[in-house]
Amino acid sequence: MKANIPDAPVTRRGFVLILSSPSGAGKSTLTRRLLQRHELQMRMSVSVTTRARRPSEIAGQDYHFISREEFELGRDRGDYLEWAEVHGNFYGTPRGAVEKSLAAGHDMVFDIDWQGADQVVGKMPDDVVTVFILPPSMVELRNRLVRRAEDAKEVIDARLAAARDEIAHWDAYDYVLVNEDLDESYNALIAIISAERLKRRRQTALAPLVASLMEGPLPRHD
Ligand code: 5GP
Repeated sequence: MKANIPDAPVTRRGFVLILSSPSGAGKSTLTRRLLQRHELQMRMSVSVTTRARRPSEIAGQDYHFISREEFELGRDRGDYLEWAEVHGNFYGTPRGAVEKSLAAGHDMVFDIDWQGADQVVGKMPDDVVTVFILPPSMVELRNRLVRRAEDAKEVIDARLAAARDEIAHWDAYDYVLVNEDLDESYNALIAIISAERLKRRRQTALAPLVASLMEGPLPRHD
């Protein structure tokens, strides 16, 4: 399998892999698996949010949890590459790490909603690959939110209602996965990343090889 994944050499500018889905479709689990696959050398963009931390979440790793006042200060200073209000809370992508990581040849994962995806695509269209993850059914989506058992019942109801607003934007994305089976979805994501890394426009570092293939006499049979 390793041989199928082109490395992330610093000779190539990184890209931003945006993953969007309704809450509970499996996006966080898939993101975690991508980051655990070290040879992919993906980096996570850690968002800021005004929502309360869930018991399983680690501050600074899952999100930077900040107050509304802090968020508004950062927003007004232009600290965020994009920001949006989702389920009554503010979320934003800190600008700082992004350009540095892309310039160093690292691909980044953004777990953001459709509003954020739209803004990032508008700002850096050549650097972005977008993937939408659909649940196999609304019943399964609800089951997953209940199984996660990290949100109150009213929050789950609200997230389920909001799922349709998110799903309505699926047609703006480059790739779409139905997350029925986690392993299959993960493999599909690896395929997307591999293909994107092999795009010709991302492989300008091959120019010297191509030039050398084009010059000199052709080798002859002995
Ligand atoms: P959750 O509260 O379940 O972690 O996330 C709720 C929604 O907010 C998810 O769809 C997630 O993708 C989105 N989200 C998380 N961080 C950001 C961000 O920085 N910007 C935007 N636009 N959406 C985000």
